[in-house]
Amino acid sequence: MSDCDCSAHAGPSLKPLEEALELILSHAKAVDGTETVPLAEALGRVLANGVISQVTVPPWDNSAMDGYAVNTADLQGENSRLPISQRIPAGSAPEPLEPGTAARIFTGAPVPANADAVVIQEVCEQDGDHVVVKEPPQASANIRRAGEDTEQGVEVIPPGTRVGPQHLGLAAAVGVGEVEVYRRLKVALFSSGDELINPGQPLGPGQIYNSNEFTLKGLLEGLGCEVTTLGIVEDTFDATCEALANAAKQADLVMTSGGVSVGEEDHLKPAVEKLGTLNLWKIAIRPGKPLAFGFIDDTPFVGTPGNPVSLFVTYCLFARPFVLKSQGVNDAGLTPTPIRAKADFNWPKPDKRREFARAQLALDDQGEAKISLYRSRSSGVLSSLVWANGLAILPENQTLSQGDLVQFLPFNELLK
Ligand code: AMP
Ligand code: MG
Repeated sequence: MSDCDCSAHAGPSLKPLEEALELILSHAKAVDGTETVPLAEALGRVLANGVISQVTVPPWDNSAMDGYAVNTADLQGENSRLPISQRIPAGSAPEPLEPGTAARIFTGAPVPANADAVVIQEVCEQDGDHVVVKEPPQASANIRRAGEDTEQGVEVIPPGTRVGPQHLGLAAAVGVGEVEVYRRLKVALFSSGDELINPGQPLGPGQIYNSNEFTLKGLLEGLGCEVTTLGIVEDTFDATCEALANAAKQADLVMTSGGVSVGEEDHLKPAVEKLGTLNLWKIAIRPGKPLAFGFIDDTPFVGTPGNPVSLFVTYCLFARPFVLKSQGVNDAGLTPTPIRAKADFNWPKPDKRREFARAQLALDDQGEAKISLYRSRSSGVLSSLVWANGLAILPENQTLSQGDLVQFLPFNELLK
């Protein structure tokens, strides 16, 4: 039997999403093993240790603008004329400001001692070796204070952070040139199904192309996993056992697509039960009701449904947080916070299962964000995922009308 789209099967045996996620995450632990990598190679990796600032940033008061450093006590009203006593470009070390003078100064340069403001050059007129300050500044104007960003010794990025470009920048700014990260998670995956054939070959009778392997590999590599693909495994108990054992030997996590229902052609359940332990859950979500989770010896196993959209949705909701936690990501980074926008649709027939509908968030003619739904609910239609830019969360047992607020998980959160 394959993932069924009919709500007649919804019932008390369905596990709520939150419960299933909590159970899965309770089994996830960060891989053992870390490595030190140069900062330039740390993008996408997960920090095993926090980043500690090596310096105070900025290290000294500096000018936020091009202009003149002055002491406001030296300026009497408008059009004060002061001699220019020094020139301070970025990268230089200034002398203290001589009383009754101004210093030419540029953005980022240290503010000299005794100066308490920078006048922007737009309100000044240079007159030979003097400057006329047309409007006196407030004390502290245009000065970035030492330590405004961070102080030396402060943890500026916590452990368990997945490194993005902004983290690279901050680590560099605080003087950190290499970081300790968790080793990459090794994931072995295969697709089960006698009907499958890889793209690039002609289709035989009854065959379809194996799309799930490509989706899954892309999803996992997007998280920085080291992925081994073991190809297509035929729908027999023995082949399934062999593939699972082989996968578990070489990976931290085994993932599969298809074969997780309980039909005659679905062998993953008995195979995992033979090799280890298995929980097969019917989760109260649509699409993607069946999800398998267990262990092959000590290696965790996540079996996603064969329907391509069900695979995608169950991956985003369950496998992704499991993978992230196994990579060492801290709890704050496991699941994205949904945003809310108005429905551009009616949802008159509520379902017992919470629906994660392929949806588009776009601005309407008035510039207001609206959510619209894909035309079909079929979990086999992969084009829907290319059309959509996120998943709308349609609550169980609830109707919705145009204009109601709906939660939305953007793909740019789920796929990063
Ligand atoms: P299953 O979960 O094995 O019952 O498969 C459910 C549906 O998904 C069937 O229509 C399969 O043909 C399809 N399917 C299974 N595996 C894949 C795959 N790797 N790529 C594309 N479609 C698949
Ligand atoms: Mg199958």
